[in-house]
Amino acid sequence: MSLPQHTSPHLATWQLEQRFAPDHGLPVLADVDVLVAGAGAAGVAAAVTAAESGCSVVVVERYGFAGGAAVAGMSGTICGMYLASRDADRPTAVVGGFTRRFADELARRGGLTPPQRYGLTWTSAHDPLMWRESADDLMTAAGVRILYHCAVVGVILDGDRYLGVVVDSNAGRVAIHARCTVDASGDGSVVARAGGRYAFGAEGRIQNPTMFFRLGNVDTERFWAAYGEDTICPPEVTAAIASAREQGADLPREKIWVFRTTRPGELLVNATRLTAADGRVLNVIDPEDFTIAEVAGRRQVREYERFLVATLPGCAEAFVVDTGVEAGIRQTRSIAARETLRNDDVVSCRKRDDGIARSPWPIELHDGTRPRLHWLLDDWYDVPYASLVPERGEGIIVAGRCLGAEHEALASARVTAQCFEYGHAAGHAAAISLRTGADLADVDVDEIRARMTERGSLLA
Ligand SMILES: Cc1cc2nc3c(=O)[nH]c(=O)nc-3n(C[C@H](O)[C@H](O)[C@H](O)COP(=O)(O)OP(=O)(O)OC[C@H]3O[C@@H](n4cnc5c(N)ncnc54)[C@H](O)[C@@H]3O)c2cc1C
Repeated sequence: MSLPQHTSPHLATWQLEQRFAPDHGLPVLADVDVLVAGAGAAGVAAAVTAAESGCSVVVVERYGFAGGAAVAGMSGTICGMYLASRDADRPTAVVGGFTRRFADELARRGGLTPPQRYGLTWTSAHDPLMWRESADDLMTAAGVRILYHCAVVGVILDGDRYLGVVVDSNAGRVAIHARCTVDASGDGSVVARAGGRYAFGAEGRIQNPTMFFRLGNVDTERFWAAYGEDTICPPEVTAAIASAREQGADLPREKIWVFRTTRPGELLVNATRLTAADGRVLNVIDPEDFTIAEVAGRRQVREYERFLVATLPGCAEAFVVDTGVEAGIRQTRSIAARETLRNDDVVSCRKRDDGIARSPWPIELHDGTRPRLHWLLDDWYDVPYASLVPERGEGIIVAGRCLGAEHEALASARVTAQCFEYGHAAGHAAAISLRTGADLADVDVDEIRARMTERGSLLA
């Protein structure tokens, strides 16, 4: 793994490392077994799993709700559950565990669609409000102490050992002491603040962000009859986008995806492609680039709305109901881990004894006018436990899209079904570490796998 690279002109201006000594002098709000930074898919799974395994757990989330990219970014579907196949006419699940449990919880509330065609595989769209409620209820029932509207801004370290985090809010600043820290921030924000190494994509080039939106008041029967069953747009729509662009519309992405939602008359649209005005790839870890993405995202949503209303059957009376709370972030930091998930591991569908999650999801690379898809047909690869363990540090594990992975590998391994399972693995690892005294880097992976399998995970 190379040293940190970045594409944003101002990133180096920000002071990143925020290390605090054990005698930090801050008030201590809590002293717990497990601290989880971030309540996205991975953080929720880690927190619930650790708490249900008997650990005291605090989860710290900067927004007032759980869900991260899936909810705030409105990514909207649970990808990564089913095999891709040229022949199969129905979905075959190869991921279970916490992913299945959360999907079932959504379905019970009416917040999950049946599987929808996505090229050669399937995905299900979820209701973002029910996602939040499901996470609240699962964490509360498990006894997790939730701190919304709080950001992790520093790390308490004794040498290489993580002792907890510093949390900021408008009430002030506190310390939380923890025996295990789970960095589920998506951005590797805890590890980076502690001075851990990481990479940004391929030599600093990362996948573009997308502002999602929901389109309401659609005659969905007419729409789907014309668009077809596949959520990936048909060639005629791509051609119509290219033609509208030639006439001056700002529609930089030609291949768009449209999903059914659980609500009548509504579509979920994944269409925008956000770059700087001069075409520079954004690195949204930098707030200035993130701001560019937000402003450009809202403008581009209106461009796609105009196109859909003017062009596609069933959309004549449609309007944008909402965008994501934030531009959707596919990729920022990938930590330097004990083991890096390699591009070749994904392409060759490598199986392993130390795998903690299967992934059948294609390499779905968003870079350029048409996202590229490399399918893994009738097969999957295993993600190794060591890709969640930073190369350096004790008492620390990451869960979610900031795992150690090469650029193309991450373009597959980052989706929600797998993030739930990374959190599931991290929660068990923390509980085992606390029981046995083994550091998170050294816990018995067979035991993690056995516990996950007992709770429904599908691991070979
Ligand atoms: C545009 C787009 C489209 C996508 N499409 C799909 C799709 O269709 N299907 C699919 O399955 N996946 C999709 N994904 C991927 C998927 O949504 C994410 O990769 C996945 O949800 C990441 O989960 P996570 O838990 O690792 O991280 P995140 O969801 O990013 O969660 C991290 C959480 O940590 C919080 N946080 C961050 N820093 C701090 C801090 N310092 N203090 C406190 N809290 C903090 C954040 O607010 C957030 O809630 C898409 C992603 C994007 C961006």
